[in-house]
Amino acid sequence: MPELPEVETVCRGLSENILELNVSSVEVYAEKLRDFIPADLNKKILNHTITKIERKAKYILIYLTPNVNFQSQVLIIHLGMSGRLTIQDEVYERKKHDHVILKLNSVLLVFNDARRFGIFTLTDLENLSQHKLFRKLGLEPLSKEFTVAKLKALFKNRNKNIKNTLMDASLIVGIGNIYASEALFRSAIHPERMASSLTDKDIKKLHEQIIITLEDAIRAGGSTLKDFSKANGESGYFQYQFKVYGREGLPCFTCKTLIQRIVQGGRSSFFCSKCQK
Ligand SMILES: [Zn+2]
Repeated sequence: MPELPEVETVCRGLSENILELNVSSVEVYAEKLRDFIPADLNKKILNHTITKIERKAKYILIYLTPNVNFQSQVLIIHLGMSGRLTIQDEVYERKKHDHVILKLNSVLLVFNDARRFGIFTLTDLENLSQHKLFRKLGLEPLSKEFTVAKLKALFKNRNKNIKNTLMDASLIVGIGNIYASEALFRSAIHPERMASSLTDKDIKKLHEQIIITLEDAIRAGGSTLKDFSKANGESGYFQYQFKVYGREGLPCFTCKTLIQRIVQGGRSSFFCSKCQK
């Protein structure tokens, strides 16, 4: 499943390639993914120009400004489990699971999603901040609102393990299974600790390491996941070396103790029992 660094990488790739382009055709091949694709998508965004692309939590927002007297629109895209956004040449043969194809000047923006857990929807710009998808989102870890004090407030009295606490999108957005394990290792915090048991020193360290872990992964172009590919269609590649994730039974890079795997909230957690307390 694409996590925050992958989504950020896709947004950056799109910004480099499709800003200022104009939507000259809209082809929709599916009525519904996780939710309905708006039936009037074509009518609403045709002849609009892409003016901004940004990430909000794990959503990709593509801002579209009309050339004539229409309202500004924002495409809201979520990659779900297996969604991919790629940029293709104008001459392109539609592939299986390509659900939406936007023609932008002389390139195509293609949304493919084999498992159909993705979202491809639209809102008026003025309703964006009130949109149901964004009302209950937690702190954005790569923004100014993500402070040690706010993290401390979230953890106070929270009697739930720190791993699942980090992954709760109503508290903090965009930290999935991989980066929760990685950030906890880098902070020397055991994934089974109660969030409320973290000391001020632990929280300060964790705050710092969440940011560093995500930024490292973004710098490496998002990690390699089988269903993930960069926005320009290059297939995923392995550059980001996980320290614990997926390394069960392999020696810890720091102390050589074998990395363990446990299941928390139905998801695997990887950790070093010596380095993480
Ligand atoms: Zn270790």
